Formats: sequence, C-alpha cells, structure tokens
Amino acid sequence: MERRPERHPEIREAVRALCAGFPDKYFREVDEARAYPEAFVDALTKAGWLAALIPQEYGGSGLGLSEASVIMEEINRCGGNAGACHGQMYNMGTLLRHGSEAQKREYLPGIAAGKLRLQSMAVTEPTTGTDTTQLKTIAVRKGDRYVVNGQKVWISRVQHSDLMILLARTTPVGEVKRKSEGMSIFIVDLREAIGKGLTVQPIRNMVNHETNELFFDNLEIPAENLIGEEGKGFHYILDGLNAERTLIAAECIGDGYWFVERAAKYAGERIVFGRPIGKNQGVAFPIAEAFIEVEAASLMRYAACDRFDRGEPCGSEANMAKHLAAKASWEAANVCLQTHGGFGFAAEYDVERKFRETRLYLVAPISTNLVFSYIAEHVLGLPRSF
Ligand SMILES: Cc1cc2nc3c(=O)[nH]c(=O)nc-3n(C[C@H](O)[C@H](O)[C@H](O)COP(=O)(O)OP(=O)(O)OC[C@H]3O[C@@H](n4cnc5c(N)ncnc54)[C@H](O)[C@@H]3O)c2cc1C
Repeated sequence: MERRPERHPEIREAVRALCAGFPDKYFREVDEARAYPEAFVDALTKAGWLAALIPQEYGGSGLGLSEASVIMEEINRCGGNAGACHGQMYNMGTLLRHGSEAQKREYLPGIAAGKLRLQSMAVTEPTTGTDTTQLKTIAVRKGDRYVVNGQKVWISRVQHSDLMILLARTTPVGEVKRKSEGMSIFIVDLREAIGKGLTVQPIRNMVNHETNELFFDNLEIPAENLIGEEGKGFHYILDGLNAERTLIAAECIGDGYWFVERAAKYAGERIVFGRPIGKNQGVAFPIAEAFIEVEAASLMRYAACDRFDRGEPCGSEANMAKHLAAKASWEAANVCLQTHGGFGFAAEYDVERKFRETRLYLVAPISTNLVFSYIAEHVLGLPRSF
C-alpha cells in the first residue's frame, strides 16, 4: 500500500529507519516475556526523539506537537508500542509550564539527554477513579518537607522511571470553596522514595504495559519539590492533558494504519475459493471504511496540534482527536483480525498483540464517556452532570 503525501516526511523517514532495527519479532518477544523494550527506548532516547518537545535552551529539540505526534504515530505504525515511553515525551510539560526556573534547570537537561527518566504521572486512585477532585492522597507540610499518605492505582512505568509527577490534596476537600482547589503537584524522586515510604506493586494486565499500584506511607518529599503554587495542582494537570491526549491519538492513528496495511496485504495474498479474499467486497469494504476513519482521525489530530502549537485553547480538538483515533484504531483492529480469520489469533502475525494494545486507549488516559461529557458540557453547552 502506497503512502499518501503526509506532514513531516523527513521526521517520519528517520523514525522509520530507527524502528527498522526493531522488527515485529522484537516486540513479539518483549510481549511474550512481559519485559520492557529497554533497547528500543534506549535507541529512541539516544536519537533524541523523546526530547522533541523540550525547548532547545534546556537541551531538547524544541519541536511542536505536530512533529511530536508523527514520531509517536510512526512508532506504532511500524509495529511498536510507544506506550512504553510516551510519558517521557509529555510528562515534562507540567514542569516546563509551571516549574520554577531552578527546577527546570535541575531536571529538563537531564530528561532531554535521557539521563533522567520522567515517565510517570500519578493521578488515578482506586476508590475515586475518574472523579479526580475526590482523590484521597494527602500531602501535609511539615517544616521543609511534605509528608504523603494515600494510594494510587494504574501508575505506569514507575519501574522504568527516575522521577514521577504526583497529584495530592494539600487542603482537604471540605475546606476549599471549589472542589478543584486544594490539590498540588510534586516531583517525586523515585530513586529515593521507593522503600522509604513508597511501595510499588505491579499490576498484571491485558497488555504488556508496566503499571502499578502505589502505597504512600509517610513518604517525605522536600518542600522544594512542589511544582508551582500550592493548591493549583489540578489546573496544572488539566493543562497538560491536551498534549497527552493528542499524542495518544497519534499512537492510535499509527496503530490504525498498521491494521489497515496488514489487512489489505493479507486480503491481497490469501487465496480461498481460488481467488484473493480481497476480491470479495465483504472483505474489502470494511478495510476501506477503516482506512477512511483513520484518515479522518488524523485530520482532527492535526487540528489539535495546530491550535496547541499556536498557543490557542485546544481542549475540544484534543478530546475529539483522542476519541476519533481510539475508535478508528479499535475498529481497524477488529477488521484486521476478521480479515486474517484464524491466523489473526496466532501470535506470530502480531495482530492479536496490537489488538490488545490499541484497545487500552478507549479507556485510558480518559474513557469514552468522559470525552462525551467534556464535549456535551464545554462545546454544546449542555448542563453539567457531575
Ligand atoms: C494500562 C493502564 C495504564 C494507566 N496509566 C495511568 C497512569 O500512568 N497514571 C494515572 O494516573 N492513571 C493511569 N491509568 C488510569 C486511567 O486513566 C483510568 O483507568 C481511566 O481514566 C478510567 O478511570 P477508572 O479506571 O477509575 O474508571 P472509573 O472512573 O471507575 O469509570 C468506570 C467506567 O464508568 C464510566 N463512568 C464513570 N463515571 C461516569 C459518569 N459520570 N458518566 C458516564 N460514565 C461514567 C467511565 O467512563 C468508565 O467507562 C491507567 C489505566 C490503565 C488501564
């Protein structure tokens, strides 16, 4: 299948060249071993791709979200899974936008060089889920430290990160005017915290995605690790979500193209009843439809990127891109599996692995209903439901 003209061809080509060193077999073996794609993440880091969004003055390449998105897209389009390392690209945004100059100088150059990994962001909690403002993890200031107690769940890449952004309450919800106030964000040095107040319990899950439950038991964090102003953490986190959603949309778009390309190739080659199965419109049309939907999602992704890169509000576009892309990739996954018949279930075809991987994005980092809720309230002006 020939590629149509696309944005940032030079970046795409360079990422593809790197990914060529990590073929399907590599990711299949990593998946089977439930391992971390260390060599792949290392190569991406050394090539500077994960530092795309860090400004040049802090050692990054200072690219826009549009360029960053095609890096993520190409990784997934080549058969890989950027979910193993996407946090390193966007988690630093909170620090970049709201951190002090001293914090930025301390962390960003190390992150850009790959010497420091800031792969994790801890927001979700087991008892409150999507209702983030009700989170229970609390950080209490004691002299020059904050003492943290509570629990988080589904916190990804902690075992492969040096640093983590933590959202915790610094003022109990009963004592603030608005429930979105009174939360703060901290940078936690995992190398110091694990075993000294922070316990990490891995969660085995459907995908080979390193994710964990975290238990905070009087974890002490230096007060200077507070990012921005105390009490404004929820707004700072929200601020970073548009980049995260848009980049994850790009990963889904990469997956979507991968499924369509594999399905079209197989449909052209597999002979049943004496002819390629793709000659049957019942096989060809669903693949064509999946392609159309991936292309449409890609345009919404660029709409989000362009607004973000111009510094304009892009919440609606980022949410819509995430939804369209996650839906398109999941539909393409279904079509690809169906086209492969029984062989779609065989691990050596990689369809079942990518099928599991792409399914995650209808749930995380934001579930479908919560996207609908955002659009209903903020775009359509419907009454707020929670
Ligand atoms: C593999 C994986 C990795 C993750 N990594 C991270 C991470 O690194 N950091 C982090 O902080 N979190 C992470 N998450 C958490 C993820 O963001 C949440 O799972 C997701 O936002 C959904 O929250 P929940 O699981 O608590 O679902 P719940 O909030 O319990 O919701 C369950 C279902 O009910 C629906 N629902 C809830 N309330 C409403 C409502 N009012 N109206 C309509 N529908 C509603 C939801 O849409 C969802 O479908 C990860 C999750 C997974 C599975």
